[in-house]
Amino acid sequence: MKTALSILALVLLTGCPPDNRPPEEDPPDVVRHELQVTYHATTSLNNATADRILADATQILQIDHGEDDVACAVRLARQGNVTEFDAGDGSIDSRAEFEAMMQLPGDIKLVDEINWCGRLIPNVAGCARPGGSVVVTPTLLYRGLLWAHEYGHTKGLRHRDNGEAVMYIALGLSRRKLNRAECEAFRR
Ligand SMILES: [Zn+2]
Repeated sequence: MKTALSILALVLLTGCPPDNRPPEEDPPDVVRHELQVTYHATTSLNNATADRILADATQILQIDHGEDDVACAVRLARQGNVTEFDAGDGSIDSRAEFEAMMQLPGDIKLVDEINWCGRLIPNVAGCARPGGSVVVTPTLLYRGLLWAHEYGHTKGLRHRDNGEAVMYIALGLSRRKLNRAECEAFRR
């Protein structure tokens, strides 16, 4: 009886992959940025959604979309659980409110509305500055692109006047490309 059970266990072990395998690893040349994601109480976000957005952002950065694009070996990943904060009113309407947001812990901060980014500018999708953190709104479309673009700003990247560039000033389906210098910034 004991032998039969051992054989059964052996069959089960060899027949199924272990169910607690770590997630598939990136190749060793991929630079991994672990980002703490947080949202204001006027919005909502969960780990799964944040992971999906970060995976979309990573795919845009990693895939070579043709001429003048590099496959950038970088991954944006979530650090710890997505958390909620309630400082401020969830709307960025002045320099003071933006500065207050920069002081809060976290790398990516989801707020309800942004109406100030360097100047008064109504309803921008996201805002970030070199060395700072990313502030984004819950846009329906292009969230991966938005997070990647704003993260690029935190790495010192400026807008690029090419409608196919990730760093183009406006969101859109065609913004997929990073040049070599931009990729280097993303990998820092
Ligand atoms: Zn921008």
